[in-house]
Amino acid sequence: MPELPEVETVARDLQRWVAGATIAGVAVHWERTIAHPQPAERFAVELRGASIARVGRRAKTVLVHLVDGRVMTVALRMTGALIVARPGAPEDPYARVVFTLEDGRQIRYRDVRKFGRIGLFAGGGLRRRPVARRRRVGERAAPYRVGDVFARHGPEPLARGFSAARLQQRLAGRSARLKSLLLDQSFIAGVGNIYADEALWIARLNPLRGADTLTPDEVRRLHRAVRKVLREGIQNRGASFSDYVGADGEPGANAERLAVYQRTGAPCLRCGRPIARIVVGQRSTHFCPRCQPAAALLSTAASAP
Ligand SMILES: [Zn+2]
Repeated sequence: MPELPEVETVARDLQRWVAGATIAGVAVHWERTIAHPQPAERFAVELRGASIARVGRRAKTVLVHLVDGRVMTVALRMTGALIVARPGAPEDPYARVVFTLEDGRQIRYRDVRKFGRIGLFAGGGLRRRPVARRRRVGERAAPYRVGDVFARHGPEPLARGFSAARLQQRLAGRSARLKSLLLDQSFIAGVGNIYADEALWIARLNPLRGADTLTPDEVRRLHRAVRKVLREGIQNRGASFSDYVGADGEPGANAERLAVYQRTGAPCLRCGRPIARIVVGQRSTHFCPRCQPAAALLSTAASAP
């Protein structure tokens, strides 16, 4: 499933290739892909003739900013992909929505399992800090602003304002296990199973640790590790395990560079001990039992002078 580095790769590809392009037509082949506005025909009509100003990302969602201020959101979910196809490229039976550009190219939203969702919203509200108290996003206020879609999302881990101190504040009073908290999009946006496991390995933190048991040094390690794995993931154009591809239709190179994710039984790259797999909150979790010792051992060590 695409996480922050994969979605960022797609967004950067699209920025390079389709910023400035105009959408001449929209064909919706699977109506349920369109989350907003309804019906899907209205989505197609409202988008026709719109020009793309720039393409960005929030959390695990691609944001296509239109020149008129509106924003199209593309949540890839499990198997979604946005691929730029040259004029005359063979048709793709899994293309659920096809955006034909004035120059004849197409942006194809491909999605084998059809869990992804696309919306079109008024601009605004993206830059505000996420509200502490959860707001209800009302259906009655449609079309609501794109910022409302992300009202419950936590901070962007690669944003300048996401400091170790801020992470410390957010961890305080949270008793959830580290692994579960990293996957919680309201805690921190964009991290999923791959990068949570990788970050915890780099930070040498056991995935079952209670979030509020971390020492200040451990919080700094976690902060550094989360940003490092995400940045490296982007550099390598994301990790492809099944369906993920960039907007060029090619898989990323990050999967073979991962240290623990799906390396169960393989030697730890740091100590050589086999990587273990456990299930935390119904999610597969990979870690090194020696480098990432259990909480009891670690708290004993942490209390030593
Ligand atoms: Zn190890």
